[in-house]
Amino acid sequence: MSRAGSVVGLRSGVTASQDSDGLLHIVFLSTGRHCLYEVEGEALEAVRLLGDSRPWEDVLQGVQVKHPDFTASRLEAILDTLEAEDALDVAARAEVPPAGDVETAVYEKQVSFFRDFAGTAAAARSVQSRLRQGKVTVIGAGGMGSWVIQSLAMTGVGQVLVIDPDTVSAGNLSRQVLYGPADIGQPKALVVRDKIQTLTGGRVRVDVALETFSAETGPGIFSGSDLVINCSDEPSVHMTTDWVSAACMPQGIPFVAGGGYTGHIGFVGTTIVPGATACWECYKASYYEQPRYQLEHIAGDRRRAGAFSPMAAVIANLQAWDALRVLGGLGEPLLANRVGELDAQTLTIQWRTFERVQCCRGCATAEKG
Ligand SMILES: [Zn+2]
Repeated sequence: MSRAGSVVGLRSGVTASQDSDGLLHIVFLSTGRHCLYEVEGEALEAVRLLGDSRPWEDVLQGVQVKHPDFTASRLEAILDTLEAEDALDVAARAEVPPAGDVETAVYEKQVSFFRDFAGTAAAARSVQSRLRQGKVTVIGAGGMGSWVIQSLAMTGVGQVLVIDPDTVSAGNLSRQVLYGPADIGQPKALVVRDKIQTLTGGRVRVDVALETFSAETGPGIFSGSDLVINCSDEPSVHMTTDWVSAACMPQGIPFVAGGGYTGHIGFVGTTIVPGATACWECYKASYYEQPRYQLEHIAGDRRRAGAFSPMAAVIANLQAWDALRVLGGLGEPLLANRVGELDAQTLTIQWRTFERVQCCRGCATAEKG
């Protein structure tokens, strides 16, 4: 079928080069795949013109300037080859965003990133639209939450609900992004709202709840959320995740549980999609089986453990990436059915996997989202 009437071009992340022997090199930057072709001058000219997306007719006529015998069927054959290698994007003219659109310009490189996962340019733009229409609730705007919220906002998630009753203190400033000395004493959630408003030019709406998250507030406050990320560790990550799980599972809301860092170890995951992945109770069944967790606290305060901005940023953004995968439909969550411990001294992640437990009482509460 002819692509006449369409806009055609090499897809983002693909480059074409010519070597001294005249061979055409097509290189896929995201995977390193490298294809070599022996081609004639008209094909090289066509590929050169495809470096920028343009109407099919412009490519045909552009090649014909130097090669008057170049035909539509020859162009189609070249495009067939490129498409078979997944090196081509073809779009109806109506699908191509208008030039000069600010939102398109802001997210252009990001949509190119999504293209590698989504399959087509149109599907990559749909991912961005899903993020734009998404609503994510983040519990806690501290060392983890502030980085998570910043990444969600920069990525273009349309609505973020921030739940945090705390105010900014001097001790937060070494690792909690978005806060400065002038914010000390101000409610974190309000500072976040104003900063995100400024950073995104109002594209991202931040709603705030200046209340302490609890088992009681969970179900109501999550209503309408597409995803929840728990970045709260008071009274403990486990307790707050218990509450998040109890609220999210019956509503079919995916959530990213826990995560955090103590000293030089960062804890990554898990991501739970009700009805599809192992749930929080499945995790706990695995977690509590380990003797080292069968402990009774006697003394010492984990809140005095060391904390470090780069660790907070890394852990938070691993969680954010998984949340965005779920929200944007970019693929299976990478933190499902496992948790990881990132060691800052070696940059290794030790993964611990777990599976859905048969007849799990947590899984039984799941409303499949
Ligand atoms: Zn379960």
